[in-house]
Amino acid sequence: MKMLAFCGIDCANCPAYIATFENNDRLRIETAAKWSEMFRSSLKKEDINCMGCHSGGPLFSYCNECGIRKCALEQKIKETCAECSDYSCQLLTEFHKMLQDEKKLLDRLHSEIEMRS
Ligand code: SF4
Ligand code: SF4
Repeated sequence: MKMLAFCGIDCANCPAYIATFENNDRLRIETAAKWSEMFRSSLKKEDINCMGCHSGGPLFSYCNECGIRKCALEQKIKETCAECSDYSCQLLTEFHKMLQDEKKLLDRLHSEIEMRS
């Protein structure tokens, strides 16, 4: 089952979510190493705790500070940015340059919402 973040990332498939859900320290260590390289930062296993974008926490620090998430919460978006009247805004468009699958998914959801209205 998918658990979509506002930006279209599937949190259910994210290693931070899986490691937290399973309380899996081996996966936390692996993810901290991988993401430290990816984000050019120095993450520790304790940093890898997240119950997903729509959860009340814990939330991985980058996602907690994410401008897209903050904006969607302010706009009272229920599920994804595909619902937004400003879809796709510049912030999301920039972010989606790195995430083509998520972009395609939200484009499709947005078209479906438009067709229904
Ligand atoms: S909110 Fe959490 S589960 Fe979702 S993508 Fe971010 S780190 Fe992964
Ligand atoms: S303005 Fe952009 S980031 Fe904010 S909710 Fe709409 S599409 Fe998402």
